[in-house]
Amino acid sequence: MFHIDECRTHYDVSQDSEVEDLGEHHQRYKPDSLGALCRATRFSEAEIKKIYRGFKAECPTGVVKEDTFKLIYAQFFPQGANTSQYAHYVFNTLDQDNSGLLSFDEFVTGLSILSRGSLEEKLRWTFSLYDINGDGYITREEMTDIVSAIYDLMGKLDPCVDEDTVKEKVDRIFQKMDVNKDGVVTLEEFLECCNNDEDISRSMTVFDSSF
Ligand code: CA
Ligand code: CA
Repeated sequence: MFHIDECRTHYDVSQDSEVEDLGEHHQRYKPDSLGALCRATRFSEAEIKKIYRGFKAECPTGVVKEDTFKLIYAQFFPQGANTSQYAHYVFNTLDQDNSGLLSFDEFVTGLSILSRGSLEEKLRWTFSLYDINGDGYITREEMTDIVSAIYDLMGKLDPCVDEDTVKEKVDRIFQKMDVNKDGVVTLEEFLECCNNDEDISRSMTVFDSSF
């Protein structure tokens, strides 16, 4: 499972296009002070400036609505992939204050974790993605939603994927992760299981080189 690769937020930091100032019609957005962002992330000032220019080019208002985010997200997947549902979960995870809008600060913080965070930071981020309602437990229903979204993400490559396939996958995951068999996966269970799984650790480190 763990198609963590899919949730990486590709972003081309080499993109250097400075967008025209759209004038007074658009509210100008200023990110929090660069110094604070540097401390909160693993990016240098120069890198943050570069990412900001790219961000502003895509989103001149300085905030991203979910619809826009989904459009941008979809561009990184082959045609036929249904990215909408997974992008929704990624957006919710990045949108820390649940305002329905992604600020540059939230964007760059998520990007920092996914690209340069420690394995544990990435795992915590992934846990919060899977814990859809944010109550601290991954339920079977939440895992089913996520696994279905991941299959959608992979497109219609495999026509054999049906409800039973999803259910089997979720059963296998729970067998492995729900150590105390109480029907939910806690952060501790999640971290423990992922830390002991080489495949997962490997897929997590792929982020470093992804942009
Ligand atoms: Ca939950
Ligand atoms: Ca449990």
